[in-house]
Amino acid sequence: MATSNGTVHASDSKASLSTDSETKIKAKPRIERNRVLVSGGAGFVGSHLCTYLVERGDHVICIDNFFTGSKENIAHLIGKTNFELIRHDVVEKILLEVDQIFHLACPASPIHYKYNPIKTIKTSFLGTMNMLGLAKRTRARFLLTSTSEVYGDPLEHPQTESYWGNVNCIGERSCYDEGKRAAECLTFDYQREHGMEVRVVRIFNTYGPRMALDDGRVVSNFVAQALTGQQMTIYGDGQQTRSFQYVSDLIEGMVRVMDGPYAGPFNIGNPTEFTMLELAKVVQEVVNPAAEIVFRENTADDPSRRKPDISKVKKALGWEPKVPLREGLARMVDDFTKRLDVTRPPVPDKPVTA
Ligand code: NAD
Ligand code: UDP
Repeated sequence: MATSNGTVHASDSKASLSTDSETKIKAKPRIERNRVLVSGGAGFVGSHLCTYLVERGDHVICIDNFFTGSKENIAHLIGKTNFELIRHDVVEKILLEVDQIFHLACPASPIHYKYNPIKTIKTSFLGTMNMLGLAKRTRARFLLTSTSEVYGDPLEHPQTESYWGNVNCIGERSCYDEGKRAAECLTFDYQREHGMEVRVVRIFNTYGPRMALDDGRVVSNFVAQALTGQQMTIYGDGQQTRSFQYVSDLIEGMVRVMDGPYAGPFNIGNPTEFTMLELAKVVQEVVNPAAEIVFRENTADDPSRRKPDISKVKKALGWEPKVPLREGLARMVDDFTKRLDVTRPPVPDKPVTA
């Protein structure tokens, strides 16, 4: 018997077959695992998700075109019997048999999505349509990783899921923002038109080990700069805000939404808000007190503030983040220190506060 997400349990499958002569032929017992597709699985978030799912015992199929992801991110999974890697661009269709699809494939850092904006919006729209088409054919449950960028430069603060956003539809960021908004639209249209099981999470700024060293996002930039003795580059006056979530909190939230009964959309983020200047000072404190701060011109349409209201997901699924910024940064620094091949600068022994 198939469950709501299409998984067939061993106890329900026939263990033996009767022939005409009533001779019993033993059927091979099927290894029953949840077959989970992770698009963009070789990226920062995707690699942590693949690791979690493989450890849980699912059969994980990771597809990625390695635009911003890398094989190093998933090297520890290669060779495991319940992990497969396929080089594939989600703009093209793919035929697979799966029970769940976590759809992450899309560049996420502003420098990467602005690098080839037409490809970015194609990835968001066509990639999501192809993954939804696959979910429809296989009756898989589908989860879209949307973004806090659907709120644009928000006029409501903090942002709740019912806020419709303030996006410049012809700006430099719109290939990503409008791409994700269209992806959300497609996802809910597939649900309405085809009765599919869909889930949508709107992810707020997330950081952690395995972020690409040249990723360009603020936390990885500051940590890499502080570790290598460069100046930390604050864009603009540093008064713009973001709320930073550690990657393990995100993975727990995504899995809880996928396995839960509600479509969402759900904000998944850490509501503790920092200005970029405050963030730079925390990085000085945790990583390198000698790291200097320098101010550079900001980019166009930079959202002035961002903070998730997470009461919806907390009430529906009991999820909330656990890892405070200073603790998450310390874990990330260990990983960056190894990959940058640097000696960590001495930091004064301070208690971890918040
Ligand atoms: P990332 O750039 O590290 O990972 C994206 C992955 O998708 C990479 O491995 C990349 O090679 C792959 N990819 C890109 N285009 C593809 C294509 N056409 N076909 C196949 N693979 C493709 O970014 P991330 O931070 O891990 O983000 C993962 C997802 O989460 C993205 O959809 C992003 O929009 C969303 N998200 C992330 C954050 C965050 O703070 N990390 C915030 C909001 C939303
Ligand atoms: N930012 C910064 N210095 C950097 C990189 C980014 O001050 O080296 C700022 C950027 O202008 C924005 C904030 O940090 O205001 C978050 O930028 P990021 O690219 O990390 O994510 P997003 O803009 O998508 O939230």
